Amino acid sequence: MSYILIVILAGTISLFLSLYIRVKAKDAPGAKSYILVTLLSSIFTFAYAFELASTSLKQMKFWLGIEYLVMPLIPIFVLFMCMEYVGHKIKTWNYALFVIPFTTIFMMQTNELHHLYYRTIKVNKNGPLPLLDLEWGPWFYVHAIFLFVCLTMSVLILLREFRKSLFMFRMQILLMVAGFLTPIIANYFYLNDWSNGIDLGPISLSITFIFHGVALLSLQMFNVAPIARESVFESLKEGVIVLNQNRVIVDYNKAVLNVIPTMSSHHIGKPVDEVLIQNPLLAEMLEEEQECDYTSFLESGVTHFRINFSKVENKSGLHVGKIVTFVDVTEKVRMEEKLKQLASLDGLTQLYNRTFFMRKSEMIFDDLMADGGGVSIILFDIDHFKRVNDTFGHEAGDIVLTHITSITKEELRVTDFMGRYGGEEFIICMPETTLMEATSRANRIRQAIEESFTTFNEREILVTSSFGVSYVQMAAGEDRYSVQQLIRQADQALYAAKHKGRNCVEVYEANDIYMQV
Ligand code: GH3
Ligand code: MG
Ligand code: MG
Repeated sequence: MSYILIVILAGTISLFLSLYIRVKAKDAPGAKSYILVTLLSSIFTFAYAFELASTSLKQMKFWLGIEYLVMPLIPIFVLFMCMEYVGHKIKTWNYALFVIPFTTIFMMQTNELHHLYYRTIKVNKNGPLPLLDLEWGPWFYVHAIFLFVCLTMSVLILLREFRKSLFMFRMQILLMVAGFLTPIIANYFYLNDWSNGIDLGPISLSITFIFHGVALLSLQMFNVAPIARESVFESLKEGVIVLNQNRVIVDYNKAVLNVIPTMSSHHIGKPVDEVLIQNPLLAEMLEEEQECDYTSFLESGVTHFRINFSKVENKSGLHVGKIVTFVDVTEKVRMEEKLKQLASLDGLTQLYNRTFFMRKSEMIFDDLMADGGGVSIILFDIDHFKRVNDTFGHEAGDIVLTHITSITKEELRVTDFMGRYGGEEFIICMPETTLMEATSRANRIRQAIEESFTTFNEREILVTSSFGVSYVQMAAGEDRYSVQQLIRQADQALYAAKHKGRNCVEVYEANDIYMQV
């Protein structure tokens, strides 16, 4: 009688655990299977209690039938629970495993017809409780093997995870594993007939789930279930390559494919230089082991990466390899470029602003002073621009400014660069240019402006402009010139051009004599 009570207690514990997890942690990894498995287990256990309490063979067979409606499914859900718990995805083919438990259920329920599950069912009334004396048929052994395989697989899955886990997760996993030992031992007893025919399964199952429950209550098993390290590694947005001390690729994650699209599992075990033979620049960066930036040009677009290196040390502090991380910094680089552009360009014309033009010219000057060479400056100003604004409005004036910009740009060589010097004043720096070349270039621009027009509200706007040109020839190492000085000279020439009647080019002459070209 007390044995029946123990069985009922076991069933109640399973039911409690099922409900408890349903309420407390139903979304945790493995929880769904845990809820199901504890529920099935409690049905099984209660049915077993009824079987034990039965007095006739008919009643006993009825409750045995109920037990076998749920029991064959328990091992498979236990296996699924462990898989989900350690972060393995349950694949579609895994569901094919249900064929065996369902066949077991079918075999058991139709046993009268074929006797493949039990050869004979008798009642043994020799003990304190009337027990079923069962003689197993062939399918029972299939079921028993399946049960063992599922439980062993579950334990192996947990132990595999155990090796990789942190201490606190190890305790949880150990509790889970310990839980599995009970049904394995109980089943061993039962199958070897050492338990006087009493099926210890139902009780041992609830003990299993108590272990799991303790793991759950003390360490909140499902809430902080360890996420498999591989999935962490694979889910990283940053590309990671792990190299050993001989620079051989040991591991990589799939984000690396954004940097090295050709990377594949064949490359594991190969030296990184060999894998990057088509990309010597990257190979060199990885060899130098200095934090650096790398830009990849792929069909999908240009991506900027920051490459970081971390040493890998073993437990005794020995350097055994390194982790190379590729952080996508494209967004940051684009933002920086944009900011730089915004800081260096004039909003209306998109030409360099005065500050940036000066800085760039100074750099050219520095080079020229070191190596020697000539440079020209052209400064020009739209004639009577105020009138444009007064006649057509400020908006029209803006359009004229952009129009002049594009016309002028067409006349420039790649080495020349242009800036907006003031309101309607433009400046051009022409490195490695003779005075003759610069003057004729200025004249061509002047002519192009004179001959073109801008349309605004169907009205044509014609403008001319005046030019001042200055030039300097420096010997290598000479440092008595400055950009400011050259610009001042161009400005003086421009002033002279305005004075002369506008729409002309003036060249600055050292002795203050302006020469009309
Ligand atoms: P000149 O140079 O031939 O002596 O005569 P000007 O009328 O061009 O001379 P001034 O330098 O006195 O006038 C320049 C005008 O350019 C004044 C200003 O309103 C106009 N201006 C400056 N910047 C802009 C701009 O960005 N947009 C427009 N629409 N007008 C501008
Ligand atoms: Mg003007
Ligand atoms: Mg002006």
